[in-house]
Amino acid sequence: MEKIKMTTPLVEMDGDEMTRILWKQIKDEVILPYVDLNTEYYDLGLVHREETKDQVTVDAANANKKYGVAVKCATITPNAQRVEEYNLTQMWKSPNGTIRAILDGTVFRAPIMVKGISPVVRTWQKPITIARHAFGDVYRATEYRVPGAGKAELVFTGADGTTFRETINDFDGAGVIQGQFNKDSSITSFARSCFQFAVDTKQDLWFSTKDTISKKYDHTFKDIFQEIYDAEYKEKFEALGIEYFYTLIDDAVARVIRSKGGFIWACKNYDGDVMSDMVSTAFGSLAMMTSVLVSPDGNYEYEAAHGTVTRHYYKYLKGEETSTNPVATLFAWSGALRKRGELDGIDALVRYADALEKATIDTIEDGVMTGDLCSMWEGDKPARKVTSLEFLREIRSRLDKALA
Ligand code: NAP
Ligand code: MG
Repeated sequence: MEKIKMTTPLVEMDGDEMTRILWKQIKDEVILPYVDLNTEYYDLGLVHREETKDQVTVDAANANKKYGVAVKCATITPNAQRVEEYNLTQMWKSPNGTIRAILDGTVFRAPIMVKGISPVVRTWQKPITIARHAFGDVYRATEYRVPGAGKAELVFTGADGTTFRETINDFDGAGVIQGQFNKDSSITSFARSCFQFAVDTKQDLWFSTKDTISKKYDHTFKDIFQEIYDAEYKEKFEALGIEYFYTLIDDAVARVIRSKGGFIWACKNYDGDVMSDMVSTAFGSLAMMTSVLVSPDGNYEYEAAHGTVTRHYYKYLKGEETSTNPVATLFAWSGALRKRGELDGIDALVRYADALEKATIDTIEDGVMTGDLCSMWEGDKPARKVTSLEFLREIRSRLDKALA
């Protein structure tokens, strides 16, 4: 078979530990035999981030802006232990945080459903997509550990000199304070990305905050969503027969659990962080989840939602074969290649991405899977636990048949 040609480079962001091993295996086994891969490579592994003083992360994000589509491997976010382990000169920031700050936008996460692995919540029949705002709030907050008695104030000095000042608390002893922010521009683009994604995928959109308690902060989110909906999306939603629905976050949680699934749940940054882990775990596992960052100016960054799977990596370093699930990382590649194919009008690349995903799901539905899935398996065929590499080769044999 002739390899599929690409016209525009895909931005490739390599990463760390076990996922870095999977990255190469995925490319070697199920991509390079079929695609004449054209990537602009950035090594976001912690060693190279240290060597470049983290400039490589900024360069990779800018390349994402230039070319439009990137695929990212999981990366270590350093903590004190990592600073020692990797002999770092600084506790470099989370690469995802850096990339999101440069691209802005919304992270969409959806479970990959297979027959034989049923959601913990019995009523869920279709995937629930979490749309997480990827800018601001507690992730960009300023915090202070109040040492003892004193007065904390919230002060804003306008560019025109007007000021706002209000007491946060008169402390009679030690405590904590935190200053959060967000920007109308970012909330607006968050809203647009969500409405557009709902239109693209023909699903209802739910949005939830705590505006009854947070009468200015969260209420601004609610108002901006409503304005964008009324002005730009109401007619499109009505034409498609889909619904925009706002409710309080606690009400949303209760409704989500009782729902059948099949909708998008837009969440503020922190809510999305927490709820996506809850939803993905209830659907199966973080390794069975797609994740894409969509920026307001139409750039896409595909990634896995899980981390670098450190515990498996240490086993791998001892020479043990691991049964780490490569599905989320593989779907990051297929998602990115499909998007590249769509943007560049390369039908063969789109068809290949579809076939790769189908071969992956077929493999699991045939009872062949990595260890993490075995305990959840309820299919008719007995589960056969395989290593990551064996799993990828099983996918490849099915892909060969599909593309023949
Ligand atoms: P993790 O890498 O997601 O792994 C936590 C546990 O979840 C694993 O030990 C494993 O459980 C299970 N697991 C996760 N992915 C799996 C897969 N593909 N196949 C099978 N099992 C899987 O989270 P972590 O251990 O908390 O974090 C490790 C590193 O990843 C940290 O340095 C963190 O900074 C980084 N991280 C990066 C990202 C990102 O780049 N997007 C996200 C989160 C964390 P068992 O050990 O029980 O098998
Ligand atoms: Mg998280």
